[in-house]
Amino acid sequence: MIKDHLYEEKNNFVHHSMLPSKKEQTGGISQDMLLDQDIESQYRYIDQLCQTQTVSDDEMKVLFMAEHPQVLEYLYQKARKVREAHYGNKVYTRGLIEFTNYCRNNCYYCGIRRDNLHAERYRLGEEEICKCADEGYVLGFRTFVLQGGEDGAYTKKSLGNVIRRIKTSHPDCAVTLSFGEWDYETYQYWHECGADRYLLRHETASEVHYALLHPDEMSFVRRRQCLQWLKEAGYQTGAGFMTGSPGQTTDTLQPDLRYLEQLQPHMAGIGPFLPQHETPFASQPAGSLHMTLKLLAVLRLMFPKILLPATTALGTLHEKGREMGILAGANVIMPNLSPKSVREKYQLYDNKVISGDESAQEVRRLASHMRAIGYDICYERGDSLMTEC
Ligand code: SF4
Repeated sequence: MIKDHLYEEKNNFVHHSMLPSKKEQTGGISQDMLLDQDIESQYRYIDQLCQTQTVSDDEMKVLFMAEHPQVLEYLYQKARKVREAHYGNKVYTRGLIEFTNYCRNNCYYCGIRRDNLHAERYRLGEEEICKCADEGYVLGFRTFVLQGGEDGAYTKKSLGNVIRRIKTSHPDCAVTLSFGEWDYETYQYWHECGADRYLLRHETASEVHYALLHPDEMSFVRRRQCLQWLKEAGYQTGAGFMTGSPGQTTDTLQPDLRYLEQLQPHMAGIGPFLPQHETPFASQPAGSLHMTLKLLAVLRLMFPKILLPATTALGTLHEKGREMGILAGANVIMPNLSPKSVREKYQLYDNKVISGDESAQEVRRLASHMRAIGYDICYERGDSLMTEC
């Protein structure tokens, strides 16, 4: 397995020499080659994406390489126009409740992976989770995202009770789960309890790349099966991936977008990879701001009605990351509603922003930042218009 060469658990060490070179990362296309090409072709591919929502594999790779400021601005402008045609200038808000940082898995990139013995673990009980939702309701939120590591301490029934309670207290609200891989019956049960949406990033559509990011015990095939089950169970389903994860190249990104074309998710979570110091990828470079923005814009053009969050990771990578994400076509933000005492413990990556615009309690400040770039935060449930398809 390629992973065995890349990663030695014993030494907590990644062999940099085995990771793709810059040229490999860009699918063999260098900026010099791109400059030789007519930059007009990038404008053409953007127009084509707007008109037909797709481009060929090669054209997609050329778009990934776009770096000319005017081309990028053209791309972002088009993405804004498309999102405004469907969602106006609304930015949907979701109250994020990180209810447990225990996880049975060991993803190499994640700070709350099972083998991180330095993570300070916590889990919220039913009362605490419901209290967060009640507080969020008063603040105006009408979607609650219950996010956690795959923590077996919550049974099918106990999480079902939490969902029912939130939906009974706040029937006008949507509940989104972001709680990993379970079997079809469990997904179905939680949906019957009232969960409306489910986020499960596919992480990568390349099996080799998946094996580089995860230990053997995790299965690429099962991940996709779970996403299929979620759609079958009736959820508004979200997939997605990190930009700049170790081993990612334009050759792995292009299948990511093809996979999304095939899955037709209602939501896509795209955020930069950020290293966490207690993981095997601690010394890997963070994903790029520009690649993340480019991908958000490309996704908006490919899936005009999709819900696209400007993630906390983007806000962590750059002070204005969230605003930049919105200006590149994103239309969702997820301020943190978790009890303040646990926010720092949910450390998927280092330096996570937990205050200011990231805090649900400071939503007015967030609103003024959004207004400053021409957008209004909106407290509706904000269902995906892709449900109308
Ligand atoms: S990425 Fe998710 S499944 Fe993987 S270790 Fe982190 S919380 Fe667990």
